[in-house]
Amino acid sequence: MVRLRSHVFGDWHAGDGPTRPLVDPATEASVAETTTAGIDFAAALAFARDVGGPALRALTFEERGALLKEMSRALHAHREELIDLSGINNGATRGDAKFDIDGATGTLAAYARIGRHLGDTRWQLDGEAEKLSTGARYVGQHVRLARPGVAVHINAFNFPAWGTFEKIACALLAGMPVVSKPATATALVAYRMVEIIVEADILPAGALSFVAGSAGDMLDHLGPQDVVAFTGSADTAAMLRAGPGPVQRSVRFNAEADSLNAAVLAPGTAVGGGLWHSFIRNVVTDMRQKTGQKCTAVRRIMVPADLVADVEAALVEELSSIVVGVPTEKGVTMGPVATAGQLRDFRAGIALLAEECDVVTGGADPVQGQGAPAGKGFYVRPTLLRVRDSATAETVHAHEVFGPCATIVPYDGSATAAAALVAKGQGCLVSSVYADDRRWFEEFLFAAAPWNGRIVAANEKVADQVLPPGMVLPNQVHGGPGRAGGGEELGGIRGLDFYTNRVAVQGDLGALRKILGAK
Ligand code: NAP
Repeated sequence: MVRLRSHVFGDWHAGDGPTRPLVDPATEASVAETTTAGIDFAAALAFARDVGGPALRALTFEERGALLKEMSRALHAHREELIDLSGINNGATRGDAKFDIDGATGTLAAYARIGRHLGDTRWQLDGEAEKLSTGARYVGQHVRLARPGVAVHINAFNFPAWGTFEKIACALLAGMPVVSKPATATALVAYRMVEIIVEADILPAGALSFVAGSAGDMLDHLGPQDVVAFTGSADTAAMLRAGPGPVQRSVRFNAEADSLNAAVLAPGTAVGGGLWHSFIRNVVTDMRQKTGQKCTAVRRIMVPADLVADVEAALVEELSSIVVGVPTEKGVTMGPVATAGQLRDFRAGIALLAEECDVVTGGADPVQGQGAPAGKGFYVRPTLLRVRDSATAETVHAHEVFGPCATIVPYDGSATAAAALVAKGQGCLVSSVYADDRRWFEEFLFAAAPWNGRIVAANEKVADQVLPPGMVLPNQVHGGPGRAGGGEELGGIRGLDFYTNRVAVQGDLGALRKILGAK
């Protein structure tokens, strides 16, 4: 059995307490074990802060970018091995595993390019010097400097590769050392990726630490220049955000939480047309990909009442072709959910939704996965529901079922009503809208956009190019207001902001030109 180790103080530590098993969700067989008991987390943070931080801050953006490029290459060289591990510990099909792993290497490569673009400097000027007195010499210049602390990354179980390395790319390029903590249940892929990077000896000592399991008392030891970038459930985010670090010591805290993302079909969309197909394809992709375990997946489908029957028929036809089973089995197109807890939550969530919805297809009954030992594995059916009364339904806007599950919410076809339904989710990572009428789209956009981190808008002209809304791109911001956590990650160069402090330096223009390059 593989024993996961933590990489702290520049070395590997196996921990010395009772271990937690990691299982293959397709068969429930144990595949690894881990513990972080016995690790001195205060010392681990101090090592990152005091050894990794100065080493990274001494490098230019270009040099840090070159490290990211090397990391991307080293990981890509192990792509097949990582795809296999993702199948074993995440229940991911080959396609789902590639989505996660290529997302990680692609994001590292994208931030390597940003480093090259930022060039031979260690800070970012923010705007130009502004005159502060009647003379020309006394000016104020804003500058962004790497925080002299440590970035603690806490990740969710569903994207052990991409989720881990999109955060790492931004922090390292900004000049902050990282302590990365995966979700324990699916830590195998992230563990192997960090192991590959350590073996390749790419990073300065202390730049990247890894905690293979529980965070113990680590967050109690955070100081004023440290940051926490969290991804996971809204409940855990709320608990950690209220801790003494963020509240008493102003530890910067970013949350990427769960979200009831919407796909909105505008009225008058031609059934069977290009826009229609884009809508159906994207909803089905979001339900099936990663067994619906994507924070950005469509959960609510707003459909004009007169199109509901056609949408249901098209979605049922597509969903019925999904084959559920062991991801490595020939013909299987959707693996299990990742853990026994997720299976329990999925079933309970459908039962809750069924109080105000009809089940159109799927449901919470046990499923025998193709190729799985009888009764084993955490398999679920792709499940489509329809709200019985959109005027009174509440749960559909409040409860995220984290799996291949989405609910149709009929509406009257007005842009205002569609946007109001989107807003009932209290903040989404992304909503997609399929509308060819520009006026309708404009009205929807201004009402709905502030409730989202991202809007994916399709019309007939771009219907064949629009990416599924669940796909997060390194050059576009990821995050969302309210319930989605109120955070922001990625967005190209914007992703560095979280790891830097903006300082207004007021002084002599001549000196600031020489020291900072002020203009
Ligand atoms: P979770 O149960 O909230 O756990 C998230 C992370 O928090 C895990 O690494 C967990 O570690 C850690 N954690 C829990 N309690 C902690 C504590 N007291 N101190 C420090 N760390 C602690 O969420 P999950 O089940 O892994 O993820 C599913 C949820 O994440 C879904 O709701 C999904 O929508 C959301 N998600 C959001 C995004 C986004 O970008 N917005 C992306 C992916 C997923 P252990 O595993 O060791 O307990």
